[in-house]
Amino acid sequence: MQLSYWEIKNWFTNVDFTIVGSGIVGLHAALALRERFPSAKILVLEKGILPQGASTKNAGFACFGSISEIIDDLKTHTEEEVIQLIQKRYSGLQLLRKNLGDAALDLKPFGGYELFLKEDESFYNECEQKIPFINALLKPLFKADVFVKHVDRFQFGGIQEHLIFNPFEAQIDTGNMMQALLKKAHQNDILILNSQTVTQHQEVNDGVEVLTNGISFTTKKLVFATNGFAAQLTHNQVQPARAQVLITKPIPNLSIKGTFHLDRGYYYFRNINDRILLGGGRNLDFEGETTTSHDTTEQIQNRLEALLKNVILPQKSYEIDHRWSGTMGIGIYKKPIVQQLSNHVYCGVRMGGMGVAIGSLIGQEVADLI
Ligand SMILES: Cc1cc2nc3c(=O)[nH]c(=O)nc-3n(C[C@H](O)[C@H](O)[C@H](O)COP(=O)(O)OP(=O)(O)OC[C@H]3O[C@@H](n4cnc5c(N)ncnc54)[C@H](O)[C@@H]3O)c2cc1C
Repeated sequence: MQLSYWEIKNWFTNVDFTIVGSGIVGLHAALALRERFPSAKILVLEKGILPQGASTKNAGFACFGSISEIIDDLKTHTEEEVIQLIQKRYSGLQLLRKNLGDAALDLKPFGGYELFLKEDESFYNECEQKIPFINALLKPLFKADVFVKHVDRFQFGGIQEHLIFNPFEAQIDTGNMMQALLKKAHQNDILILNSQTVTQHQEVNDGVEVLTNGISFTTKKLVFATNGFAAQLTHNQVQPARAQVLITKPIPNLSIKGTFHLDRGYYYFRNINDRILLGGGRNLDFEGETTTSHDTTEQIQNRLEALLKNVILPQKSYEIDHRWSGTMGIGIYKKPIVQQLSNHVYCGVRMGGMGVAIGSLIGQEVADLI
């Protein structure tokens, strides 16, 4: 595309910071840079017409790990690593709330629950037994018990007697959050260009040459906030992980309220506007779900439907309204990668399944590297 003199002069000359990706991380990085550099030219390049990864696709859990996820993580990470990750997720949530405000997030502090299927008896027993241990581990952070046993008052089907409740968990409206974040970026004179896929970048003397599907220009610093699309950039330390979701039509007299976890975080559901939003099932086909495609599959959607019918809404009639999927960025280690990659290039990627929580903090951390 031939740009005009004006376009080159105003948009693409003396660019101080270019951020690739307009998700939670990219926009927080841009806002953190604006705070430190009030008159810098800051550009965000986004390949989708909207953010096209996870930030506008997710379930809106303001969470930091269910008890089964924490127990599972302790099998592959040290206690210190797990506590640090939980601390960062919790601090990230506080930062998100401070930056946007609870009203803009439509934050609802209903708490979160974990439920266990009848067939998962031994893991249920393990989690129940480990409640005091995990609570002791998290006490310095939360100054109170995080996990307590609750009787099921939601009339779920085919589950163990008790749910494990976490009063610190909340739900947000993902659409409202991202619109508020985009609005804040615009208000702070951050220029967001959509439908621009960064295809190449190259270090030059005093910056980086950036090539997209439409333009090329030089920026002083380049930040990748491309999460699930960062496999090549990170030598496969980040892999894409598709997450599929469905949502019902409004259900009269729906009593389910809160965020709910099942099966080590592989399934999750919540109420939203009298509907149930349910996602997960990646564990049914890890290989097939290692993809950036935004399709849904019959295998996983059928499992979600079966859970809805037999476990979540066994006594209700309902209709499924809509299905979609998004792309997460995961790896062997859950810790996000915040790194300087070369002289003028940085990245903040690998948010895993809790980027709503940790994303704002990682945006800030990658900006602080500069
Ligand atoms: C279905 C689903 C449910 C989830 N539920 C929750 C939840 O309840 N709670 C929670 O905490 N987390 C949840 N997550 C995870 C959370 O949404 C993510 O961790 C978080 O949004 C990641 O933010 P990000 O900014 O790092 O990445 P993204 O939002 O994926 O942003 C990266 C952006 O980079 C753009 N991009 C990539 N490559 C290029 C390129 N070459 N050029 C230009 N642009 C590019 C992409 O289009 C994308 O918009 C969920 C994720 C999914 C998919």
